[in-house]
Amino acid sequence: MTPVHILPLGGARLELLERVIPSVEQKIHRSTLLREIDFDTEQFYDDERSQYNSTKILLHLRQRYAGAGENDDARAIAVVPFDLYIPILTYVFGEAEVNGRVAVVSSYRLAPERYGLAPDANLFQSRFLKEILHELGHVFGLLHCISQECVMHSSSYVEEIDLKGDGYCESCAGIFEGNS
Ligand SMILES: [Zn+2]
Ligand SMILES: [Zn+2]
Repeated sequence: MTPVHILPLGGARLELLERVIPSVEQKIHRSTLLREIDFDTEQFYDDERSQYNSTKILLHLRQRYAGAGENDDARAIAVVPFDLYIPILTYVFGEAEVNGRVAVVSSYRLAPERYGLAPDANLFQSRFLKEILHELGHVFGLLHCISQECVMHSSSYVEEIDLKGDGYCESCAGIFEGNS
């Protein structure tokens, strides 16, 4: 089974990623490959919004991953430390191609300090794990889930991320049992 590529971009924190990767692998039943690629994120920065366009990042990643060779059937998730947006929303925690190849997740809005609260490394890490699992679920073909417990339940605010579990419900988990 091809490992899922995890791509730290734009100065993403490696030690944070390394802490969540074992849980990610366990939940998706696949190994991962932490890969540092040459990818200029600055071209996706929007001066007026002071944010990065996540859809454009996805499109460029997709081109990178659509070629033949070692990446032929790889799926990839980019992780960024900066704020992401899509034009119709104020911000997004991440974005993914449903049943596609690529996803992107931002850690920017996951830290309690962002909301004037005391730092909480465990809470931050838990949110980060949930968002990675959520976007990877989309890449593997999952849509939003009505179960409040399921990591595929949609969340617009960090409080909603905190309310859901850090795993897939039985129904959603089934998608990872195939061979793709
Ligand atoms: Zn979603
Ligand atoms: Zn579910």
